[in-house]
Amino acid sequence: DKVSNTSMKIAVQKSGRLSDKSLQLLKDCGIKFDNSSRKLSTKAKNFPLEILFLRDDDIPQYVANGVADLGILGLNEVEEKDQAVDVIKQLGFAGCRLSLAVQKDVDYTGLDWFEGKKIASSYTTIVKKFFASKGINATTEEIGGSVEIAPGIGLADGICDIVSTGSTLIMNGLKEVETIMYSEAVMIANKQLDGEKAALLNKLLFRLEAVQNAKKNKYILLNAPNEKIDEITRLLPGMKSPTVLPLAEEGWSSLHSVIEEEDFWNVIDQLKEAGAEGILVSDIQKLIA
Ligand code: ATP
Ligand code: MG
Repeated sequence: DKVSNTSMKIAVQKSGRLSDKSLQLLKDCGIKFDNSSRKLSTKAKNFPLEILFLRDDDIPQYVANGVADLGILGLNEVEEKDQAVDVIKQLGFAGCRLSLAVQKDVDYTGLDWFEGKKIASSYTTIVKKFFASKGINATTEEIGGSVEIAPGIGLADGICDIVSTGSTLIMNGLKEVETIMYSEAVMIANKQLDGEKAALLNKLLFRLEAVQNAKKNKYILLNAPNEKIDEITRLLPGMKSPTVLPLAEEGWSSLHSVIEEEDFWNVIDQLKEAGAEGILVSDIQKLIA
C-alpha cells in the first residue's frame, strides 16, 4: 500500500459572515488546523487539506480553474459568478434571499412595474437573467455595497440585494416586492477532480453528513415501567428499536434511542402520558447512519 501524497485545497471566506461557520464546520468534521494568525492559507494537521482564505467573490473562479479543489460560499455568489463548478452540498447556514425592493411609497403593481427601470445591485448577472426570463427590459447598475441608498439618491429605481430579516430595507425607506432566489452556504467542487481527490472528497462528505445528521438528531434516554415499553417504543421513531436496559428498581427499564428534534417535540406529551419519566435529551456529536 503506497502512501499517497495527494492533498486538496479548500477555499473559504477570509473575513465575513461565512468565515467562522465555514471553519467550524471543518473542525466539526474532526479536521485540526491552526488559524490563529491571519494567514492566507493553512495546512490541516490530520487531514490532507489546505485551507485558502479568499474573498468570497473570488472563490468560484479559483475552484473553476483548479487553483482550489473545493470552496464554501453562498449560493447567491455561485450563481452570480456563473463559473463552471459543481454545487455538491448544502451546508445549512447563512440562509437568506435575494430580493427586489423599491421605495416604500411606490404603487407596485407587479413585475411589469420594472419595465424600463434601472436596478442597482451587486448581483447584476442574477438580476439580468431574472428579468430576461420574465421578458422584462430592465437595466442594471452594478455597485459594490450600500445598495439600499441607491433609490433615495436617484441612482436607480429599485434594488436587488440580500435580505434576511428585512429591517435594513425598512430603515432605508424600501419595501421588498419580489424574491429572486433563496440562498444558503454551499460546498462547490472543481468539475475535474482526479480519482485520488474524488476519494478524499468522499471521505470529507462522509464526515459532513455525520455532522449534519447529528445536528438534526438528539439522543433520548428515559425510564419506563416494563409494561409500557411496547407503547413507548412505538412512539419513538428511532434509528432501529430502542436499547432497553433494566433499572435497579424492579419493574422499570431505561430506554435509549435517537430521535429527530422535531419528532421529539411532537411526541413528548404522549411519552409522559404513557408513563415515561426522567426524560433526558442530549446533543449528538457525530451520527453514522
Ligand atoms: P467578501 O469580503 O468576502 O467579498 P462580502 O462582503 O461579499 O465579503 P458578506 O457580507 O460577508 O460578503 O456575506 C457573505 C455571504 O453571506 C453572502 O454572499 C450571503 O450568502 C450570506 N449573507 C449575507 N448577508 C446575510 C444575511 N443578512 N443573513 C444571512 N446570510 C447572509
Ligand atoms: Mg464578496
